Formats: sequence, C-alpha cells, structure tokens
Amino acid sequence: MSTFTEKVPPDRGKRKDIDGHQHPPSKTKKKESAFKIAALIVKGLKDISKIQMSKTLKVHLPNAKIENILKSQTNLFTIQAQDVHTFNQLLTNFPKTAFSTDPNNIAIYIPRTIRQVFETEKIAFLKHVDQEITDKEIEEALFESNFAFEKVQRIMLKKDNRSTKSVKIIFSDRSNRDTLVRSGLNIGFLKFQAERALPSNKPLQCFRCWGYGHTSKYCHREELCRKCAEHHSSTTCSNQLIKCANCSLAHEANNVNCPKHVEQKEKIQKTFDEYIVTPSNNLRS
Ligand SMILES: [Zn+2]
Ligand SMILES: [Zn+2]
Ligand SMILES: [Zn+2]
Repeated sequence: MSTFTEKVPPDRGKRKDIDGHQHPPSKTKKKESAFKIAALIVKGLKDISKIQMSKTLKVHLPNAKIENILKSQTNLFTIQAQDVHTFNQLLTNFPKTAFSTDPNNIAIYIPRTIRQVFETEKIAFLKHVDQEITDKEIEEALFESNFAFEKVQRIMLKKDNRSTKSVKIIFSDRSNRDTLVRSGLNIGFLKFQAERALPSNKPLQCFRCWGYGHTSKYCHREELCRKCAEHHSSTTCSNQLIKCANCSLAHEANNVNCPKHVEQKEKIQKTFDEYIVTPSNNLRS
C-alpha cells in the first residue's frame, strides 16, 4: 500500500494517484473547522474590476452567498462561495453572457488540488478481502447494509494482471463512504475494514523545464537538462556535473528530496488538510 510518505519514483504511478494512494484515518490530526467550500477560478475576463464582478453576480445570481472576490495580476478571478448551493450555482450557471467578452473565452473551474479532493471523497478501499469473494458478493453485502454506492471494483496489479485483496468502492456520496470507513462491512459472518481514498500530494512537475505546477504541454519556458540544469535535453547530456534546475544543489531536478519538491508537496498537503474532512469530523458536525 502506498502512503504519502512513501517515495514514488518520478516516472511511475502517474495515473494511480487517485486510485492507489490512501491513508489510514488519522486519529491524531483532528480538525475543529467545518468543511470548507472550495474557491472557484474564473478565467478569460480582462477588463472587469472586482466591484463590477460583484455587481454582475448580484444581478444574475441574486441568491448567491459570496464571501469574497479576488483578482490576480493575470486576470484570474477567485470567487469564494459561502455555501455549497452558491458553489454549484457559480459552477453551472455563471453568467458568462453578462460580460462584453466572448462567452466561449470565459472558463470557470475548480483548482486541480481541490478537484482531486472531490474525486476521492466518495471512494473507500475494502482491505484484506480474499480473492474468492466476488465483486457481486460485495455488492450484495453493501445492499444489505443499505449503502448507496455506484461501483465495486477489485484492484488489479497492472504488471501481471493479478488481483489484490483490496476492493475499491465508489459511493454515491461522502457520507456513505465515511459510514463504511467507521463501521466496516459484513459479508456473511465475516467482517472487513475499509480505508478512505485520499488524493496524492505528489507535485505536478514539468518534464521540459522541471518547474512545478504545470506540465510540458503547457510549458512556456526553455528546455533544461534534468541532470545538469543547462540548456539541452537530458538525453543528450554529457556533463559530469550534477546540478538541480530548481535549487542548484547536487541532485537531479526530479529528485523527491529536493527542497523545492518537498516545499511543493507540503503546499498541496496544506490545501488537502483544509478541504478534506475526516470521518471523525463528520460525527461532530
Ligand atoms: Zn515547464
Ligand atoms: Zn545536461
Ligand atoms: Zn533541487
């Protein structure tokens, strides 16, 4: 089982982030705050001020409860909704046509880190489930215990397509997932424990310039060598000197112990800690 602290080789496991990385529910890290509503980003509006945005939203979404509107130097608006209803309203009914900009150029989205939280909050992994127990038997047990779920899927090892003892369950909502994590699942007279899925805090790194927060597809920077940080491709490097393109220390740019990598990882984890509600918090609210 992978955890946050485990070192993942840089080129492996890119897709398994959501499926593979999980974490036992932490008993020491209890948070008092209630579930935080994610901020939404609006892209593509240039000549609009914050107050204009505020007035426009007030006219078109009169019931929306908005905490604050921020605008970056690159013309990205960040809108902080006060409740889930407003959040959904903004995401689906943002008044794109109310601005002089072509509506097709306006995009509203959830930041990647937070989207990952949403994608994983309905998922749990049932542990130590013997291979002879079928997905269908697990589904029946879930029905019997009145769980609302969407999918049951035995985790297979990609390498040789061997089945594992972990079973992924996608629930209809977070509350059903959390109930299973707290209570476990009875299949006949057998009892199985579950762990919630958590998103990976592995930073997004560019394979072209080795910077963080973007991929090579969207890279606007010059190509740098992974090994020596000079302006050539890593595959053609003949330099004996090892130098990191991010911190100039003597390691390759994709080294997971690089201070820059650690810093990025902590930043992502901080966002997760703000947005992820542990099952124990649910009981309290
Ligand atoms: Zn780049
Ligand atoms: Zn080089
Ligand atoms: Zn470094």
